[in-house]
Amino acid sequence: MTDMMNALKEGWGYDSFRPLQKDAVEAALSGTDCLVILPTGGGKSLCYQLPAACGIGLVMVVSPLIALMDDQVASARDSGIIAAALHSNLPAAEKHSAMQAISDGSLQLLYISPERLSLGDIIGQISDRLGLIAVDEAHCISHWGHDFRPEYRMLAQIFNRVPTVPRMALTATATPHVQRDICVQVPLRDEIHLLGHPDRPNLIYRALPRKNAIKQMMSIIERHPNEGGIVYAQTRKEVERITSSLDGHGVGCAGYHAGMPARTRQKVQMDFVNERVDVVVATIAFGMGIDRSNVRYVIHANYPRSIEHYQQESGRAGRDGLNAECVLLHSYADIVMHRRLSTMDGPLSPERQQALDQQLSGVTRYASSPVCRHRLLTEHFGETYSIPEGNDLQKGCGACDVCLAETIELDATEAVEVAQKIISAVWRCQNRFGAGHVTDVLIGRDTEKIRRAQHDELSVFGLLRLEGDTSVRFWIDQLIMQDLLTVIPNDGYPLLAISEQGKALCKGDGSVRLGQVQKPTKKKKSSAGKAPADNSVEWEDVDRELYEQLRDLRKYIAEDINKPPYIIFSDASLRDMARELPANRIDMLAVKGVGDHKLEKYGASFLACISGESVEEAFEIFKA
Ligand code: ADP
Ligand code: ZN
Repeated sequence: MTDMMNALKEGWGYDSFRPLQKDAVEAALSGTDCLVILPTGGGKSLCYQLPAACGIGLVMVVSPLIALMDDQVASARDSGIIAAALHSNLPAAEKHSAMQAISDGSLQLLYISPERLSLGDIIGQISDRLGLIAVDEAHCISHWGHDFRPEYRMLAQIFNRVPTVPRMALTATATPHVQRDICVQVPLRDEIHLLGHPDRPNLIYRALPRKNAIKQMMSIIERHPNEGGIVYAQTRKEVERITSSLDGHGVGCAGYHAGMPARTRQKVQMDFVNERVDVVVATIAFGMGIDRSNVRYVIHANYPRSIEHYQQESGRAGRDGLNAECVLLHSYADIVMHRRLSTMDGPLSPERQQALDQQLSGVTRYASSPVCRHRLLTEHFGETYSIPEGNDLQKGCGACDVCLAETIELDATEAVEVAQKIISAVWRCQNRFGAGHVTDVLIGRDTEKIRRAQHDELSVFGLLRLEGDTSVRFWIDQLIMQDLLTVIPNDGYPLLAISEQGKALCKGDGSVRLGQVQKPTKKKKSSAGKAPADNSVEWEDVDRELYEQLRDLRKYIAEDINKPPYIIFSDASLRDMARELPANRIDMLAVKGVGDHKLEKYGASFLACISGESVEEAFEIFKA
């Protein structure tokens, strides 16, 4: 068998493993079953691809994501592995050549959908050469997971026909409950557990009260010109509205939702992956089949349904390990909407209702607590968070709005005073008005509704005028979250009322924590165009102009060979080239992500571009 480290360098161009990759590969090579939980971008595919390159025999990967298989095959081939896929959407010619490679014994890596595996007798044909079974997206096997697939339950029976072959189950998100279920259902035998830490230190999280969403989105989009981003919205109508507004602001974007014809959706997906479109505005249906590694930001225009969903959707940013931004724009109205949407097909069962309540309170806690977002997310998945080594302890993670002091926590006395003012306004409004109206009263707005109710004569009118409506609205959400105010549904228009705890707080009993978004100061504003990402070491010594040229070259080549650009070289590799300026093949091999196979295919043209040839000339070298 080929040595692991050599195979890693030759095939992938990496000198070292990411956490737990080595353990997973060693488990496979020694014939041990294992459960691998690695966050998105953690490098799961290498865990089963490297054993194939080392000569373990045929590696069979069961995956439900047919849309991703072709890309995964292409990328494995770029690492020098003989790979193929079998699924129902395959053109006849490719199916034929895959079957050929199976029967002549040359195939090293086979991606297969669970449906296809259940058909005919594939397992019989490959059983004597099978070296490893990998079950990708393994959470799909569990009823308790967020994405159960009944087809996955048929697998155990098939696997049991090859009892001596080691098994590896992989997923990005699984609560301890789901992890146990995976081990029982696959099943894994005397397995080792390789549980990665759920935190993604390269992601910068922000949770902001939504106010003029388009303006908020534009300021994020403008921080990342010509880069890929995803905006998630709650409903189809929202998707359409946001798409046309962003379009009106000159952003190259496309909408994506389940109501669009499959053809159109497919095109949007391909345009995004191939970097012909920068921004996709989508309902959550978008992303399952997206492996683009250089997504630089994910914006949620509304509350996600659960923290698991948030982790998965926001996790599509920054898979290449470079910094990326995840921004959640929220308002309590989204929660009301989620409840409405979830009961559209009739009332929920008590268990389902309980689960929904739990999920929604999880997301509200995340968004409205003035606590480090990295910490909150990590703790949700049952792990402890520690501040990255080398960080100033005072500054915390350095990668969320709270630790960056963009959102601050009011001191305890001030928080109680503010809460009391808001609660008494709700009291004066006699529990008959919603959050919008109470906000208007507190900041002293002159509206028709206020005059009609004579609320401009209340003692609380204008009491929080100086704080502005964004802060007041946000505080109301936080008081609801902390059970000091409650929401009474009323014909789709939720009314605010005071809870027992809220009454107690007004009498001086209990406590409250309130966060406030800082208004950017003049000085801060001038640097606001730069994301923290831009100031980081990632860009140190990078020749930005050359980097852009290398990206152009990559795009030309990608179009020519009909592959997504990120499969040729990652953004991280291109930045490394634009920093180190390799002058020859040896230097080029030292760049992270450049292995022998990629050097052979693309090395000459990228070296030409770095040495000063124009992008067009460098592209000609590739074609020659
Ligand atoms: P996952 O499936 O866990 O989300 P991928 O397998 O798609 O992650 O890998 C994410 C990115 O990390 C890819 O661009 C991959 O090339 C890169 N990567 C994987 N392993 C390593 C490593 N050992 N060193 C550097 N980059 C790596
Ligand atoms: Zn933080």
